[in-house]
Amino acid sequence: MTDWLASDVAVVTGGASGNGREISCTLAEYGADVVVADLRMEPREGGQPTTELIESEYGQRAEFVECDVTDSEDLQRTFDAAETLGGVSILVNNAGITENRDFLDETEADFDRIIDINVKAPFFASQLAAERMIDADHDGRIVNIASISGIAGRGNGVVYSASKGALRLMTYALSASLGPRGIRVNDVSPGVIETSMTRNDLEMFDSGAAEEYATTTPIGRVGTPNDVANAVLYLVSPLAGFVNGETLVVDGGATNSW
Ligand code: NDP
Repeated sequence: MTDWLASDVAVVTGGASGNGREISCTLAEYGADVVVADLRMEPREGGQPTTELIESEYGQRAEFVECDVTDSEDLQRTFDAAETLGGVSILVNNAGITENRDFLDETEADFDRIIDINVKAPFFASQLAAERMIDADHDGRIVNIASISGIAGRGNGVVYSASKGALRLMTYALSASLGPRGIRVNDVSPGVIETSMTRNDLEMFDSGAAEEYATTTPIGRVGTPNDVANAVLYLVSPLAGFVNGETLVVDGGATNSW
């Protein structure tokens, strides 16, 4: 194991559960101190809070901030907490929500909520993080968690697909804006990953949709949060020093075989 991230402080939004929890733990495993920003400290899937796990398993400092990413004051408090640990150098915009509704049933409220959390919040979180990374002359890295739904589209998630496509394009534009200022910006676009989102919100495991994905995917299984976390680790590590404005698709080969 290396200490690639020993001088880093990472902010992970939605870090209490699912992909964000695994991303937080993986960054800590490689030496980062972590601020977990989420609505609630308790993981959706149960178990120890992420911050306790980080402190006990990896011996890194970890702070939980109760944060709704759509609330600008909550975001400010999140980056203030990172300041007490030495200042943010890694931001993972992971918090996101989905919907499982037919296009004709979607409301304006659904649209606004999904766009606020999946697009607007990463925009303003990135702005707050970038200001601080530039002021502190940190080697900054921002990773947005998009989705293959933002590449290929998903019928029962039109707004979700639009939001993730927007997040991906925002990644590319941000990489052009922030690269010259010492910050690399990339996205990870996962396929189906087993989390509460796919298990409970989308009911993919009860409906057979997850099994169908597994059998029609070249690698022959759904993904795990660890698959996503390892991709994030690569993008924030020194191995990816020349990787900027890129999408790392983590889907077992699904998208390219459709
Ligand atoms: P989960 O629902 O398991 O976890 C999401 C976490 O984000 C939860 O802790 C949730 O809190 C939190 N969250 C939701 N809204 C907000 C908010 N407004 N402010 C702060 N935190 C919030 O989802 P996943 O781990 O599966 O998803 C994480 C990311 O990965 C998302 O961006 C998702 O779109 C993306 N993704 C997931 C895929 C999958 O197959 N699972 C595939 C592709 C992309 P709470 O529990 O309180 O609601």
